[in-house]
Amino acid sequence: MKTFCGRANPTTGAMEWLEEDENYDYHQEIARSRYADMLHDKDRNTKYYQGIRAAVSRVKERGEKAIVLDIGTGTGLLSMMAASAGADFCYAVEVFKPMANAAVKIVEKNGFRDKIKVINKHSTEVTVGPDGDMQCRANILVTELFDTELIGEGALPTYEHAHKFLVEEGCEAVPHRATVYAQLVESKRMWSWNKFFPVRVGAEDGEKTIVSPSEMENCPGVPSVCDIQLNQMPLSDFTILSDVVTVFSVDFSKPVRSASTCYRVQLEPVKSGKAQIVLSWWDIDMDPSGMINCTMAPYWVKSTSDFQWRDHWMQCVYFLPNEEPVLQGESVHLTACRDEYSLWYKLQKARGEGENKADVRVESPVCRCQAHLLWNRPRFGQLNDQNRTRQYIKSLMKVLETDSVCLCISDGSLLPMLAHYRGAKQVLYFFLFFWSLHFSLIFLFFKANHLEDKIKIIETRPELLTASHLEDKKISVLVGEPFFTTSLLPWHNLYFWYARTAVTSHLTGSATILPQSASLHMMVVEFQDLWRIRSPCGICEGFDVRTMDDMIKNSLNFRESKEAEPHPLWEYPCKSLSDPQEVLTFDFRKTVPQHSLSTEGSVNLLRKGKCHGAVLWMEYHLVADISVNTGLLQISNEKGNCEWNPHCKQAVYFFSSVIESETLSDVPSAVMYAINFDPKTGEIAMDFKL
Ligand code: SAH
Repeated sequence: MKTFCGRANPTTGAMEWLEEDENYDYHQEIARSRYADMLHDKDRNTKYYQGIRAAVSRVKERGEKAIVLDIGTGTGLLSMMAASAGADFCYAVEVFKPMANAAVKIVEKNGFRDKIKVINKHSTEVTVGPDGDMQCRANILVTELFDTELIGEGALPTYEHAHKFLVEEGCEAVPHRATVYAQLVESKRMWSWNKFFPVRVGAEDGEKTIVSPSEMENCPGVPSVCDIQLNQMPLSDFTILSDVVTVFSVDFSKPVRSASTCYRVQLEPVKSGKAQIVLSWWDIDMDPSGMINCTMAPYWVKSTSDFQWRDHWMQCVYFLPNEEPVLQGESVHLTACRDEYSLWYKLQKARGEGENKADVRVESPVCRCQAHLLWNRPRFGQLNDQNRTRQYIKSLMKVLETDSVCLCISDGSLLPMLAHYRGAKQVLYFFLFFWSLHFSLIFLFFKANHLEDKIKIIETRPELLTASHLEDKKISVLVGEPFFTTSLLPWHNLYFWYARTAVTSHLTGSATILPQSASLHMMVVEFQDLWRIRSPCGICEGFDVRTMDDMIKNSLNFRESKEAEPHPLWEYPCKSLSDPQEVLTFDFRKTVPQHSLSTEGSVNLLRKGKCHGAVLWMEYHLVADISVNTGLLQISNEKGNCEWNPHCKQAVYFFSSVIESETLSDVPSAVMYAINFDPKTGEIAMDFKL
C-alpha cells in the first residue's frame, strides 16, 4: 500500500504530496515520537508504579479480582506494572499498529503473555462480553493519554466512553485526578509572539512608523496552545500578576463529561500591570489521597529539588484576546473555556455579586487577521525583533538608490514597507505565490500604513514572472529575509536562491541581491537533557523495553540516512564542545549551481563532555558587513553554555552514539564531518564520525 505524505520542497517553496512507502509514515511517527522521552521520565514512571500498586491493593483488599484496562498502552509499560503488582488480568489497548505489535513483543519478552492481552484498537471500538475483546468490564482504569494541555490528545472523550462501556462503576483510576492551574502574567517577550509591535523607520521625510492593521490588534487569535519549556524562561522576562489558581479538576474514577464548558475563577492581582498572558500547567494525583503527585509546575512555583526534565509534557502559554490593565487587589474573573480538545482564556472585570456563572459563554476564538494562521509564535517574535529589523533597515539604506526597482521574495514579509520608507523609487514590486491568505494579510498591512497604492503585489510564482508584471522594468534590487512558511530546517529558506535563479532574466546586469549570501555553520554540542528524546532506555522500572529502543533506532535509520531535526535550542540548554565552524556558503549573487556543494573536514573538541550531536544553522549576509544570524548568538561562559536565537529553530543531528548506546562515552579529540548540498532536492545530507 502507498500513502501520501505532505512535505515542503525547498526547491519550489511549496508543499508537495509525495507518494511514499506505507512504512514511511510509521517510521517518521516512531522516529520522531516521544516514547523514548516518556520511558526516560523517571518521575512519571515511579509515580505511576506507586499509584498502580496502591490501586491493585485496594481492589484486592475488597476481595475482588483486579481487572485492569490500560488505554494507550504504548510499550505495554503500565500494564506490566499492573501485572507485577498482582493484577489478575490486563487489557492493554493501543490504536497505533506498530506500537501494538511492539507491545506484544515486549509483554512476551518480560513474561506476561498470560496476564496481558494487547488489543490493537481505538478504545472506543473495544467490545465487552463473552465474545468481545474484553471478557468483562475492568475495575481498574489506567491511562496516560495526556499532552501538555492535558486534554489535547482526546483524554476526555476517551474517559467518557470508557466509563460508559468499559469499566465498572466505582472503579479505581490511575491517575485518580488531574488539576489544571493558571497564573496571570505580563510579559513583553511572550506578548511579542502574539501581537505585532509598531516598527519605527527613519525615512527621507522624518520618522515613519509601521503599524499593524486594526484587525490584528483586536484579533482573538487561535485556540491552539503554545507549549514551551517554561523552565527556560528567566524571571526577568515576565511579571507575575496573580497567585497560582486552580482552574478545574477531573476525577477519572467517576464518569467524565467531555462536552464544551467554561470555568470561572476569581483573582485578586498581587500586582498592578497589563494582563496579557495566562501561564498554565497541570498535575496528576496517582491516588485518591493525593500523596503521589506528579506535577508540571515551573521552577518558580515548585520549591522541590526533585526536578524532572521532560519534553512530552511541558507548560502552556495562552494569550488573552487583548491586554487588560489590572490593579492590585481589584478582583477580576478569569474564564477558561474548553471544548473536547483545547482550552482558551478570557479575563473580565468582576462586576458585582449575583452574576450567573452559567451565563459565561465564550466562543472559541477565530483569527480575523490571518496572521495567527500564517505566522507561528517564533515568526511573530522574529518580526518584533528590533535588532533584526535594524539590520535590514541599515542594509536597505546601503543598497537602495532613488531610482531602484525592488522586488521582494519572502512569505508575508514586511521588507517592502521598510524598503519603501528607505527611499526606493515610488513603486516597489512585491510578489507572492499561490497562497492568497498571505496576500490578504500583507494587504491589510499595506492599507493600515496607506501603502496600498505604493507597493505592487504580484500574485504569481517566480518562474511565471513576466516583463508585463514588472511594467517592462528591470529589477535592480532583489530582497528577501529569507523566510518561507513551509521551511522546517534552516536551509529550507534557501528557496530564496531558487526563486532568485528563476527571475534572473528580469534582473539588471548589476542588480544587488540582498542577502548576498548565506553560510551554514556547525558546532558539536553536549545537551543537558535533549539527548534523552533519542536515546535508548534499556530497562525501565525493571522491564526490558529494548524492543522499543531497536524500533526507534531502526526508524531513525530508515533508508540508511539519518536526518537532522529542527529544535528551538533556546529551550534546550547545551554546551559547545567545539568552536562554531562555517561549513558551506551559498552565493546568492550567482544562480543555483548544477553540481552539488560538498565539504569534508574535522572539528577539534575543545572541552570535555559527551558528544551528543552537531547543531547547524544559517547566517545571512545581507550586505558585505551586515549579517543576520539564526543560530548561535554567543557562548556565554567558560563552561561553553550557548545562547541561541530565540526566534528560529536550529537543526540538530544526533550522533549514532546517542541512538545506539545507553552509556555515552566521552569521546576523542575531533569529529570528522562530510556535508553535501544537493541542488536538485535542496536538501543537505550529512555524516559524522567520532
Ligand atoms: N502507556 C504508555 C504510552 C503512553 S503514550 C506509557 O505510559 O509509557 C499514549 C498512547 O496511547 C499512544 O501510543 C497512542 O497511540 C495511544 N492512544 C491514545 N488514545 C487512544 C485510545 N483512545 N485508544 C487506544 N490507544 C490510544
